[in-house]
Amino acid sequence: MNSILNTYSPLSKETYNEYRGQIMIEALSIQKVLVIGAGGLGCEILKSLALSGIKEIHVIDLDTIDLTNLNRQFLFRMKDVGKYKAEVAAEFIMKRIPSCKVIPYTKKIQEFPISFYQEFSVIIAGLDNIEARRWINRVVIQMVQRDENDKVIDETRHYLIDGGTEGLNGQARVISPFETACYECTISQLPKQIQYQMCTIASTPRLPEHCIAYAYEILWPKQQPDLKLDKDNFDHMNWIYQKALERAQQFNIQGVTYKLTLGVVKNIIPAVASTNALIASICTVECIKLLTGNGSQLNNYLQWYGQNHQTGIGINVIQQERLEECTECSIQSLQIKVKRNDKLSVLLTLLPQDIELYCKGEILITNNNIRKQAFAHLLDKTFQELIDQKIIDENAQLKALDKNKTINLKVEYE
Ligand SMILES: [Zn+2]
Repeated sequence: MNSILNTYSPLSKETYNEYRGQIMIEALSIQKVLVIGAGGLGCEILKSLALSGIKEIHVIDLDTIDLTNLNRQFLFRMKDVGKYKAEVAAEFIMKRIPSCKVIPYTKKIQEFPISFYQEFSVIIAGLDNIEARRWINRVVIQMVQRDENDKVIDETRHYLIDGGTEGLNGQARVISPFETACYECTISQLPKQIQYQMCTIASTPRLPEHCIAYAYEILWPKQQPDLKLDKDNFDHMNWIYQKALERAQQFNIQGVTYKLTLGVVKNIIPAVASTNALIASICTVECIKLLTGNGSQLNNYLQWYGQNHQTGIGINVIQQERLEECTECSIQSLQIKVKRNDKLSVLLTLLPQDIELYCKGEILITNNNIRKQAFAHLLDKTFQELIDQKIIDENAQLKALDKNKTINLKVEYE
């Protein structure tokens, strides 16, 4: 894995070794890091980064602070209940470590343009759901550009460090797009049932599962204090299902079913502060190594077991392999011949349905009917016009993303 410092540093090896300590401090102080999530794991990551000498951290989290967060999300106090996690966390860190600037955002990660993510060489995700992980994984892959020989341009590679915890167990991984396995490469290895963290359930539900967990974890003990929930009793489970439906309607969330209710209720794991601290430390160590070029990276997936049947406790590092038919990071190249005065819309007739076409990391056109209109103004432009207006380059490297793969398009002019 090429370190970011090696990419940027013109120093000889001797000079580098002589000034290593100084370079490390400098490297940490000039680079920005993005942290996604300011929950249990995010709070720990922010603290560790700031104490490690990172001078500028950006943090995204749209949740507000709930009473149930206070036992482990230690950047928050009773007076903060109801306020945005990202904002309170930023304020706390800056007060404690004035040399560190923390910039909070209270939007969905999907609302930021790719150009926003391009500002960060390292993105650390302390997320609690698969959906968001898949999305940010796709972003780091899309940001990668290739030269005319189809080789990845190192400067355009952004690293994703992904941490996750479930009760006493946790995991961390480093994703270097097109070099290591991406999140999607290993998605089939995820356990079928998924755990949800209490903080999300109680404050800002986004998925049907969050609504079900709310009915089960919070409403049942409150409204049925004398009745022990029997997970095999239809009446009990139907009660949970109906309450989950009500909450889903309230937050405009689709997809709560009786079957899903059964699946979620039988599988909830509490958040454990010490697991968060441990996984956050590992994520921070990997971030520092990437930023300073000091030491080799975690290659590439670490599993932590706070509870292990055989050894009691354990840590395990495995190298996850890239999946040849990965829907995100497998590559197929395609050469297309067009005339300079052909319109861009010609491409849509040559490519599969439901495709999105990217240039320089930004979306250019889409075949998807819902989103098509937003890009309609480009479809009528000719390739020459797009080149003149600097929307695409002369030797346009376009990236097409359909449901099954990434296709690198080489456009040649007749
Ligand atoms: Zn992949």
